Amino acid sequence: MSQDEQQAEIKRAMVVVAHPDDAEFGAAGTIAKWASEGIEVYYVLCTDGSKGSSNPNVAAEDLIRMRRQEQIEAAKVLGAKEVEFLDYPDAYLEHTLELRRDITRMIRKYRPDRVICQAPYRSFGNNAYINHPDHLAAGDATLAAIYPTARDRLTFPELLADGYEPHKVREVYVMGGDGADTWIDITDTVDKKVASLRKHASQVGDSPEFAERIKERAARVAEGHGMKYAEAFKVFRLG
Ligand SMILES: [Zn+2]
Repeated sequence: MSQDEQQAEIKRAMVVVAHPDDAEFGAAGTIAKWASEGIEVYYVLCTDGSKGSSNPNVAAEDLIRMRRQEQIEAAKVLGAKEVEFLDYPDAYLEHTLELRRDITRMIRKYRPDRVICQAPYRSFGNNAYINHPDHLAAGDATLAAIYPTARDRLTFPELLADGYEPHKVREVYVMGGDGADTWIDITDTVDKKVASLRKHASQVGDSPEFAERIKERAARVAEGHGMKYAEAFKVFRLG
């Protein structure tokens, strides 16, 4: 089957991330591109974003409410269909069986052909950044939910009892790790990426330099791949 034929069979995609704004930083251009091609995109947010502020006057409940709304609006800018919140406390996320089951429930509910998730390991290729532990936990739990849990009938029988039938995800796009092997051309959607990130006003501010920085980063990722702006992933095709 050619790449184009394979692409034509992709009807639904899901992006599973730890925090509000993670999906936009890593994959907004790709999400907007897929949505514009008619692919339904669903979001799953693992945490409530309750630690994402250094302002001593912001209460956690207000921050949760604010970031939830920001995430819903950001997803809307990109053309996503739905945002689900699992509401685990921010900064304390672990790959527990409970988290794996909750992500499995989402996969069985929306039945995505393709899932975007975060890298489940620390990157040693970037000396200016330490991966947030919530990202590792969200990535690892999502990969485990895809294989084998969502597929296997007898795992978490309570899901089956609730009517969530097994489902096989066919493609996984891992963002933010080393060893990318797939570059998505986001030249047509990079402005939507910036616009979606701007919706996370509690996190990114509104300076013009911010837009420049996002575009510069996307241009760097695109270097050597015949594109102006790109996002990069490690892709698994599970057949
Ligand atoms: Zn994050």
